[in-house]
Amino acid sequence: MYRAVAVARPLQRTLVRRVSTSFNSHGGGGSMLEGYTPPTTSPANDMIAQLAAKHLDRLSLKDLIRFGRPPLTAQSLLTSARITREYLPVRLSRRIRALRNLPYIIVSNPNISKIYNNYIESLTAILAFPANSLTNLTEESKFTELLTEIVKTHSNTIPVLAKGFLECRGYTTPEEATKFLDHHLRARIGTRLMAEQHIGLHLASVPQPPTIDVPGESYIGTVDTELRPAEIIDSCASFVGDICELRYGARPKLTIDGNPDIMFPYIPVHLEYIITELLKNAFRATIEANTPVPITVTIAAAPGPPDAGGITIRIRDQGGGIAPEDFCHIWSYSFSTFNGSRSSIGSGNSGHLDDLCDVGTDGGDDVMSRFTESAGALETSSIAGLGYGLPMSRAYAEYFGGSLKVQSAYGWGTDVYLRLKGVGLDGL
Ligand code: ADP
Ligand code: MG
Repeated sequence: MYRAVAVARPLQRTLVRRVSTSFNSHGGGGSMLEGYTPPTTSPANDMIAQLAAKHLDRLSLKDLIRFGRPPLTAQSLLTSARITREYLPVRLSRRIRALRNLPYIIVSNPNISKIYNNYIESLTAILAFPANSLTNLTEESKFTELLTEIVKTHSNTIPVLAKGFLECRGYTTPEEATKFLDHHLRARIGTRLMAEQHIGLHLASVPQPPTIDVPGESYIGTVDTELRPAEIIDSCASFVGDICELRYGARPKLTIDGNPDIMFPYIPVHLEYIITELLKNAFRATIEANTPVPITVTIAAAPGPPDAGGITIRIRDQGGGIAPEDFCHIWSYSFSTFNGSRSSIGSGNSGHLDDLCDVGTDGGDDVMSRFTESAGALETSSIAGLGYGLPMSRAYAEYFGGSLKVQSAYGWGTDVYLRLKGVGLDGL
């Protein structure tokens, strides 16, 4: 099945990485600025503004496979490198602009300024690589090395940003935080993909030493033209089952039905991320409800080409469902019912959640207690607690025109519907 390329490794591996120590759970006052390194002064401020203002087309799966199956000709590989060299700085500059537009107290948080500085460094490095040198494979290889470094630098962004926003929760509301994070993390998907796509094409087109893991033959960069959703579900279930055994000493059963044999052209790391998060939720609910009923994953393929009907994956558990007063918050970044966390990102503002959520007056305080606060939830568990699983999974699903819907039968269980569109492979 999926063979990870050197940097486009399965995202799930990054999920279990622990967030580092010294967590200021109150996020207040001067202590928040401890260890603060002022953002690198960039010599290219005007350039950042100009680049960020450039037009950017939405990335589509079709764009990703436009060069056809690797190995690519030197000409095509160089074209891919030049396009990446041209548009990656636009994407990075937009992220920098968005971070700069945050209130100063937030961008000066050590974790958020760390992310900001990573973007500045990456942009500086890529701009220092002369675009007009991309005329031969030696330079293309150097460029790919630089992309690999950039991808690595940004691989741990999500927990760091999450920590930063938790520390800043006295200065922002959950809605403001969610709005920024949703936009930022969606844009980040495209930025990473652009770099990883070129790296994948390079690895499959230029001979590599045996120590380097190269994409399998069915891959076009990050896209697996023969992806089998059932295989991804199996491997994610085994990974999430391991986490459950460690944490709870139990492993729920899972069955796959529908069309387990279908193949579907898609980006495995994206599907892997989504399925891992959805299974974590279903496994946790099943164990906490103490039910022996297996989780059922149904795979359905619509008739016609993959870019028309696509596939639907339904994950059904009998873990008790989601309480109505929680349901309207499940798409907020950092909303979690794990570990009885207390407080919220915007703990200074207790009225707004009732506005968002039609739960009446008795929902408020209880709901406020459901936004992640504790370092414990971030550091000691990877089954849940960050409150990013559902919103991030929906961001991945929607990136290429899919959707993610949750239906809860409170007191019984939850159905999650993941719909994805693939890409037509005609002419490849
Ligand atoms: P986390 O899992 O870190 O809490 P998520 O974004 O994945 O964050 O989920 C948010 C919340 O939605 C969970 O804490 C839980 O309360 C609820 N939830 C999600 N999926 C399920 C499910 N299958 N069964 C019951 N509750 C769920
Ligand atoms: Mg989760």
